[in-house]
Amino acid sequence: MALERTFSIIKPDATRRNLTGKINAKLEEAGLRIIAQKRIKMTKEQAGKFYEVHKDRPFYDELCEFMSSAPVVVQVLEGENAIAKNREVMGATNPADAAPGTIRAEFAESVGENSVHGSDAPETAAVEIAYFFSGTELVG
Ligand code: UDP
Ligand code: MG
Repeated sequence: MALERTFSIIKPDATRRNLTGKINAKLEEAGLRIIAQKRIKMTKEQAGKFYEVHKDRPFYDELCEFMSSAPVVVQVLEGENAIAKNREVMGATNPADAAPGTIRAEFAESVGENSVHGSDAPETAAVEIAYFFSGTELVG
């Protein structure tokens, strides 16, 4: 299988607790290469557009508030099967269901404040990467 790219966010609950390095270590140990990374603070509008697919869900407003409440680290990860591999190392959305050793099992505080985002398919990965990074910022 060819190299694949996925989009990742280290969320505000994790940046607040100074967990960027520990989460990056988990990603790298899983064989994912961080080929682009920056720390930014999203506006609520930016978060709203990013999570637009969830706009009719009951947690949408709270999610957008949370994602714009403190800095996040946006990243592009590259590796064999990167999308699925990242989802695996992230663990289930609800940390109570996340497998031992996964990022969410170790670090997430709740189903909402769950430390990381990861793309769920090639199409969403491409859109999400382009939302935060230009082509010249991606050096694999
Ligand atoms: N979320 C939430 N409550 C829920 C489900 C999701 O607050 O019941 C938040 C959570 O931060 C999650 C994000 O919305 O990571 C996006 O939800 P999704 O179902 O796409 O989960 P993910 O792909 O992040 O595992
Ligand atoms: Mg998702």
